[in-house]
Amino acid sequence: MSTQVKFLTKNFGQYDTSSIGSYMNIGGFEALRKAVNMNPEDICTMLTEAKIRGRGGAEYPLGRKWSQARAVRGENKVVICNADEGETTTFKDRELIKNDPFNLIEAMIIAGFVCGATDGFIYMRGEYACHRPLLLNAIRQARNYGFLGENILGKGFDFNIHLYSGGGAYVCGEGTALIRSIEGKAGRPRMKPPFIKVSGLFARPTCLNNVESLSLVPHLLQDKTTYMNCGTGESIGTKLISVAGNVNKPGVFEIPFGTTVREIIYNLAGGIQHDRNIQLIQFGGASGKVTDASILDTPYTYDDLRAAGVMVGSGGILVIDERTSVIDFLRMNQEFFSEESCGQCTPCREGNLHIKIILDKLAKGEANEQDIKTMTTIAKVMSMSSLCGLGETAQNSLLSAMKKFPQVFDLGGARA
Ligand code: SF4
Repeated sequence: MSTQVKFLTKNFGQYDTSSIGSYMNIGGFEALRKAVNMNPEDICTMLTEAKIRGRGGAEYPLGRKWSQARAVRGENKVVICNADEGETTTFKDRELIKNDPFNLIEAMIIAGFVCGATDGFIYMRGEYACHRPLLLNAIRQARNYGFLGENILGKGFDFNIHLYSGGGAYVCGEGTALIRSIEGKAGRPRMKPPFIKVSGLFARPTCLNNVESLSLVPHLLQDKTTYMNCGTGESIGTKLISVAGNVNKPGVFEIPFGTTVREIIYNLAGGIQHDRNIQLIQFGGASGKVTDASILDTPYTYDDLRAAGVMVGSGGILVIDERTSVIDFLRMNQEFFSEESCGQCTPCREGNLHIKIILDKLAKGEANEQDIKTMTTIAKVMSMSSLCGLGETAQNSLLSAMKKFPQVFDLGGARA
């Protein structure tokens, strides 16, 4: 099972992405026509049967999320597409936006119909500004064809889509920070509750979804059987992954769940440059855990990766070869979080900085046993007491590396 599949990506290269007519010629908006003639709750059930988990990293079941969004009382509900994709080594959503913009628009309209929303917002990371014209054109053409606006397809359903660009802050991938950013405020997370499903964008009930999660829906409505026949166990279907680092062919690949990590790295991504050895592999971006080459024969599924100590997360895979030391990798990762912390709460603001300082000492051979203990304590305090996911997960790579590569942190009392 080493070949790529084309389910989510089957429209890539098949139509002119600037033309709604071209999209409709390959069956575009047929899923929407089908959806508006279904009971919205049946669509939630379909998503639940397909066991789709949120593809942004949180892995929350999509069918449950939409069902909960439907059940929330309130007018003027909102659907947001999180196209911030700030997790390092993750660039799969960009491919969906670039190669199949109309499918994303169609998916948002379906989400609006199911959740009972009147507005959809796409929040796209600042670095993807070059794709704004493509999406704006898709939105405008969908409106001209009556797929957006009032009384869509004669079903008495009104829905509009608005496009916003972020400024490139990693933390704006977090739901409450993203919402504040759209509202024109500083993109900083806030305390929950209230949860955004009840009081989100402009205090309206809000359903937030990742690009890939949304993009799956029209395809699933059109061809559930093919999707259900892919994958294995609890991980049904396909997954879009991005592979980066010291591989010969970094890129985005659609795989059936169950493909082994070895097949991904050596067959799809072309293996390690100059046949070097693997030092470590990080799954799910900078906030993801790390492991070593012992994971190569593990199937890429939610459960198998979790059992191996890592997670699917955002779908990014970073491969680091033997030229980079574990400590240098962790220093780089930690520097990233020190830069991206919004500074609002102490554990994250100070913790990231202090971990970086201790890692620097370790790299220079100046750390002692107490430093290692202090670093571990800081990391654990951060995970338990930070206000948002950034601070909670920033030390994932460090703590997982301490388990997987204990020799790197074993000073043997020499400098204690
Ligand atoms: Fe800001 Fe970090 Fe606190 Fe999140 S955990 S609110 S990023 S300081």
